[in-house]
Amino acid sequence: MHFQQILDRHAGGISKLSLAQLPTPLQPLSRLTAQLRSNNPNSPKIWVKRDDLSGQLLSGNKVRKLEYTLAYALDQGANAIITAGGVQSNHCRATAAACAQLGLRCDLILRGESPAIADGNLLLDKLLGAHLHTIPPRQYYDQLDNYVAELQSELTQQGLSPWYIPVGASDGYGVWGYLQAADELLDQASIQDIQLDACVMATGSGGTAAGLSLGMQLFAGNNVQVFAYNVCDDARYFEQKSRQDIQAWQALFDPEHHLEIDLANLPLHIVDGFVGEGYGKASRSVYRRIKQLAGLEGVVLDPVYTAKAFDGFSQHLLAGQYDHFENVVFMHTGGLFGVFPHRELLF
Ligand SMILES: *Cc1c(COP(=O)(O)O)cnc(C)c1O
Repeated sequence: MHFQQILDRHAGGISKLSLAQLPTPLQPLSRLTAQLRSNNPNSPKIWVKRDDLSGQLLSGNKVRKLEYTLAYALDQGANAIITAGGVQSNHCRATAAACAQLGLRCDLILRGESPAIADGNLLLDKLLGAHLHTIPPRQYYDQLDNYVAELQSELTQQGLSPWYIPVGASDGYGVWGYLQAADELLDQASIQDIQLDACVMATGSGGTAAGLSLGMQLFAGNNVQVFAYNVCDDARYFEQKSRQDIQAWQALFDPEHHLEIDLANLPLHIVDGFVGEGYGKASRSVYRRIKQLAGLEGVVLDPVYTAKAFDGFSQHLLAGQYDHFENVVFMHTGGLFGVFPHRELLF
């Protein structure tokens, strides 16, 4: 089964925008591999899939989902997009960039406090002309739906057609983005003659893990396992959330179940234990990983998602948990701008 075959089943076609620069590179991390092997000779060869270079303002993983989610919103006649996330949300920044590119109004509901001087993603949100609505965390968690509904009716009264994209663009539409990425990665591995065994990544709202796990299952059988290190909540939450996203995708695009997806038994490996003090809070070990990989390979991770996942991954590599694999890919999902607000903690 190939990605194209799934697309071909849809006579009217699947709506999609072209926002990302694809394919993103698949690169070996040779010095990292050598360093790991000096401590653990059975460690696999490590690769990195550079989704941090997905284009349209270094958008990371969100742009792949937005290509589908925003296409659907436009089909519905939307001319204003509402979405939500933390003050330093990569998803919100990627949405703001895409909206500016498409000429859509963008409203961001941001969790947290607006600092005196905007930094990182927030600075970009402002530059990109997004309308910002900052609300305290407690209210955000309790009442996000109300805030969205209020904003929707306000915009409608102004004669606009607003459309809400859920946190992280993780929903039935967003799943397409990482189904396509799974196909792209398998293609690259095949061209470069790499026998891929596993793919490691961070999970924060579940959509990337959902698309990648489903894609690998459909396109590679059980040959490529996906390990998603959660950066908030816990394994139980993400097992449910990712399955829910896949279910939503199935209800929208394969309601008659032509694809033989055994959803209840679809392997979703969520690796818990590296959240630390909470979402957005990084430990010394996480900061050390950022500096280590940057100096060793010229690849910069972010403290909120990728470095947390990479820290857990590195510990497991040294402990021998990946020894039975030959080639493992780390999915670099982006987040560079999130480094800057941590400048005082990094050194
Ligand atoms: C959003 C994000 C993730 C997590 O992806 P989800 O699909 O939300 O689970 C990982 N890395 C970065 C840099 C992100 O911005």
